[in-house]
Amino acid sequence: MISEKTIQAVRDLDIAVVLKPYVNLTARGSSLVGLCPFHSEKSPSFSVSPRKNLCYCFSCHRGGDGIAFVMEKENCTFEEAVERIARDNNIPLDFTNRQMSDKEIEDAKHRESLMAALDVAQKFFYDSLRITFSDEARNAQAYAYGRWPEEFCSTFGVGYAPKDGRAFMEYCKRKAVDTDLLIELGLLKRDKEDKEKIYTAFRERVIIPIRNRWGRVIAFTGRYIGTNDKAAKYINSDNSEIYTKGDTIFGIDRASRVRDAANVIIVEGAPDVMRFNILGYDNTVATLGTSWTDHQFEQLKKYYQAITFVPDSDVKEGELFGPGFIAVIKNGAEAIRKGFDVTVREIPFAEVELTDEELKELYPDGVPDDAVKIKPGKNDADSYLKTAVDFTSLSEKYFIVWLAEKRFFEADSIQKERNAVSEIADLLRYVKDSLT
Ligand SMILES: [Zn+2]
Repeated sequence: MISEKTIQAVRDLDIAVVLKPYVNLTARGSSLVGLCPFHSEKSPSFSVSPRKNLCYCFSCHRGGDGIAFVMEKENCTFEEAVERIARDNNIPLDFTNRQMSDKEIEDAKHRESLMAALDVAQKFFYDSLRITFSDEARNAQAYAYGRWPEEFCSTFGVGYAPKDGRAFMEYCKRKAVDTDLLIELGLLKRDKEDKEKIYTAFRERVIIPIRNRWGRVIAFTGRYIGTNDKAAKYINSDNSEIYTKGDTIFGIDRASRVRDAANVIIVEGAPDVMRFNILGYDNTVATLGTSWTDHQFEQLKKYYQAITFVPDSDVKEGELFGPGFIAVIKNGAEAIRKGFDVTVREIPFAEVELTDEELKELYPDGVPDDAVKIKPGKNDADSYLKTAVDFTSLSEKYFIVWLAEKRFFEADSIQKERNAVSEIADLLRYVKDSLT
């Protein structure tokens, strides 16, 4: 196996250097452009962003980092691409298996074959979204490109799993991927009754790849876009030897590559991370629907000293805080305990119009002309942030101060104020105890 050190060195290479044998690039503004190496063309559609270390073709919509480019161009595996780039650029090829036991080598080989199977699946999903002659794919494109720009979908690797699961099975068979590996990854499932019967787990879903810090696909999350009310909105890959939900940080591949960011932004979910990436904040991460674990904070610590939480703004009837704020209080305290500098940026509440019934209840004697007809509502970071200016204009507070203000501001009774005081005192004590 190629060592992590070699993979990191290859990842750190300027993408223009990696692409040099394949395409002639010339500077245009902050980008480099050239004739696309994937198809013949007369005017250049192929664009490279040295700042993001990513490339993209505006014509055939292929894109990604240097390793993904070489995988596509040379039709090779991740390891082969890393090896090729390392050799071309005089990066010493370190292999880790010299000191490994037979068992460790066996395990490492197994993990590598799981990831190779995922590479095949990723290519299938990626290509399935980009079929031009199918109504089904066009429908999926309408959803994906309605939510995220097409260029972003390409470099991020957004794909589609068709409704008919046989297409996926047949593709994997053609590529000689072992069925047991796909079952282990949770991409194929065995029928509970008839064990001989196998079906595809992801169907009629827009597919978002989950990557490790090297940018390798280790799992998928799939957003259902069909019409069956009973289908779960999101499903994820099963845990496997290469993917554990509670250990994985969504967005770490990009966030670990940012060199000049003062802090890492923690948001609530994968769609928020994608929105922040689109706005230019690659230093954004989230868990996959769980609270932050020690192991996740330890991983972040390798790259960042300061954390800024951007929770969704949400309200809950009869409660002081919505679930987003409660999660930040819990995770924020844990992060302080882990030695991070923690701040919070607040997204303003959405304004929800009161219904006629609510108005009638508020004003039983008739609604006055100057009546307030709106109430605060949930604002997802994902839906609120449309431009980078939206983000920079958000208020930022030191965590403890923010917490105190928030609690007092929202306390509408003496009892709630008292509760707030004692909760903050508890939290301060907790943080202090943890640090000593
Ligand atoms: Zn192209």
